[in-house]
Amino acid sequence: MLTIVGAHLRVIETMTTMIHGEKIPKTKKINNYTITVDFDPVERILTGNEYIKYTNDENTSLNALYFHLYPNAFKDEKTAPFEKNEMDRAYPKGFEPGYIKIHSIQKNGDPLNYVVMGVGESILKVHLKEPLEPGEKIALKLDFSVKIPPSCGRFGYGENTINIANWYPILSVFDKKGWNLEPYFAIGDPFYSDIANYRVEILMPQEYILGHTGECIKRESIDGKIRWTLEGKNVRDFAMIASEKFKVIDDQIDKIKIYSYYFDDQFGDLALDVAKDAVGIFSQTYGEYPYKQLSVAASDFFIGGMEYPNIVFIDESLYKEESKEILEYIVAHEVAHQWWYGVVGNDQVNEAWLDEALTEYSTLLYYEKKYGVKMEEKVYKNLIVRYYNAYKDSEGSKDPSVCRKLNRFKNSQEYQVLVYYKGAMFIKNLRKELGDETFFQVMKVYFDKYKYKNASTEDFIHVCEKVANKSLRSNFRKWLRYDKE
Ligand SMILES: [Zn+2]
Repeated sequence: MLTIVGAHLRVIETMTTMIHGEKIPKTKKINNYTITVDFDPVERILTGNEYIKYTNDENTSLNALYFHLYPNAFKDEKTAPFEKNEMDRAYPKGFEPGYIKIHSIQKNGDPLNYVVMGVGESILKVHLKEPLEPGEKIALKLDFSVKIPPSCGRFGYGENTINIANWYPILSVFDKKGWNLEPYFAIGDPFYSDIANYRVEILMPQEYILGHTGECIKRESIDGKIRWTLEGKNVRDFAMIASEKFKVIDDQIDKIKIYSYYFDDQFGDLALDVAKDAVGIFSQTYGEYPYKQLSVAASDFFIGGMEYPNIVFIDESLYKEESKEILEYIVAHEVAHQWWYGVVGNDQVNEAWLDEALTEYSTLLYYEKKYGVKMEEKVYKNLIVRYYNAYKDSEGSKDPSVCRKLNRFKNSQEYQVLVYYKGAMFIKNLRKELGDETFFQVMKVYFDKYKYKNASTEDFIHVCEKVANKSLRSNFRKWLRYDKE
């Protein structure tokens, strides 16, 4: 149905004219993670190690490396990344802690000193014995174990699935602000990471079916268990989901394999079709999906859906007749995140609007391209404008800033309305202002220029202004209350 080749060639032509004479953003040296873990299904503990090869790609020497230890946020009810009124749904069987324990850190067998610090002990600082100079490489081995909590969120288990996300020590991003050491906020998706290459080996009981980032390159039987060897190239995180109950179906679009993991119900095929069409639509509109596979997994996840590279988790309770429209909307949204968050990354703590607004607008585009403009308008009115207006009526003249740090939103509702709804309204308005041709050229150039990198609001404004050849800063100021720092 969708042909990609012609569109792709046009993008390349556009790119060379657009970026001619302009500084192409630097691609960071890609770091490598090799993670080997055994899963204990009774204790729900992952035990193993992580080898990380890191290159200092900054202009300054580094005395320490910093990692996020997101599982530690789940150690205490006070830091568990849920709002107070969500705790019962997050822990239907009551709170039990989850955490990560670091057992040792070594460089070539030589132990290094480290400290676990920050809010909820969610940051790991590894002291290097000698400064790592610009361009120098280092290889570290971290021994660790991870306790998975009974939480129906990104990281935890419920009746059906074990959600293994934000689970291993992941390097913090070093950018012009220095190291980004933000805690695991309860609002939004408080993550920010660089593209890396991953090889993950996980030993699991053979009854489990595993959905994951990357591709499975080997499955070996070992004493009644299965060792899965997974590889993810050019991805900014690595997530897995396991269940003994999963059924799996697959389909294909342009050599990309689409998988749907679901349970005993009939909407696994709907999720599969939506994901397949969404991949086709966004590939054609923005630039090709650059990986070999994408999975949509029904999950014990009470917050709608959550995106990870090559895999999205979807609340399994949506797989039914009464909620199939919502299921479609959420699958399309999470698939769009593969472009905005996955391939083009951003600081989701300080500038969450950038990936969420583009993703929410892309969801509308899915309806427009698949069903026509009338359908898009209906969805826009019913699911976006209606909720935005209701919020505005109830809140009066509250600060309408869209671009702000996660912990500066009052609650998830305010975050949702401003970042998703008002954000999508802004992008829709931008399209109207620029006209279709320029708008879609902006999106293609932005995708191509920041592919496998992290972009900022300034970068997005810059691409808009460059492609449209006019000043647009006042639009960003008006809609987002965004001002350059
Ligand atoms: Zn989203």
